[in-house]
Amino acid sequence: MKKFVLFVLTITLFLATLIYVAFRWGSEWISSVVADIIPIEVQEKIGEASLKQLEIQELEKTKLPVFTQEKIKSRFLKIVQQDTTHLKILFYDAPYPNAFALPGNYIVILDSIVKLSQDTITYNDVIGVMAHEMGHLHFKHSLKLVIKSGLTAMVISYFIGDISSFVASITHQLLTLSYSRSYEEEADDYAIYLLKKQKIPTLPLAHLLENMSKTYKEESTLPAFLSTHPVTEERVKKLKDANLNISL
Ligand SMILES: [Zn+2]
Repeated sequence: MKKFVLFVLTITLFLATLIYVAFRWGSEWISSVVADIIPIEVQEKIGEASLKQLEIQELEKTKLPVFTQEKIKSRFLKIVQQDTTHLKILFYDAPYPNAFALPGNYIVILDSIVKLSQDTITYNDVIGVMAHEMGHLHFKHSLKLVIKSGLTAMVISYFIGDISSFVASITHQLLTLSYSRSYEEEADDYAIYLLKKQKIPTLPLAHLLENMSKTYKEESTLPAFLSTHPVTEERVKKLKDANLNISL
């Protein structure tokens, strides 16, 4: 009998370890594989749905002049050599500065980010923010986040027999968009690569991050663009260092 209990305990422990390892390290790999096979039409549907939800919850119509929107949009599209059918750049108003990328090639810039710009001729600081968001799109970070939260929620809902937690988790993940430190680093590195390739200084983005962190000192009031890791000082240093190597 004792042997049997020991056997059951060992098997349980083994399975628990296996599940933990699969979730800890396997979910990133699975989400990457799944993200690559999701058709762009489906990605657009996910992006559209979350945008609609955000419009209801917190985003308002942009108050930026059309001229300003077009100036920033056309400059960025030229830099990344894309058109509006592939990359959808949208402006909205909200009481805090932020920018984010959604599945289906959506980049959303909030008015306050543009208002913080120190250069209304080139808007290189805003362009820097957009290059960072382009990095999130390039690596399909928001899509992977949805898939990952889907995996966890699917298992939870299976065990507790409640599918609503699965749906709630997906919406929550997309709306809060809290990326991991490694995702933010990847997006920053991509932004540096993109800006340097086009000989655009990375210093304006560093200054924008500094200005934002000075304005929003308390962690609780930090906009999402800053509140995620790596910490602002590290990001600013990396962007300043990268700027030294750009021959303008
Ligand atoms: Zn980011």
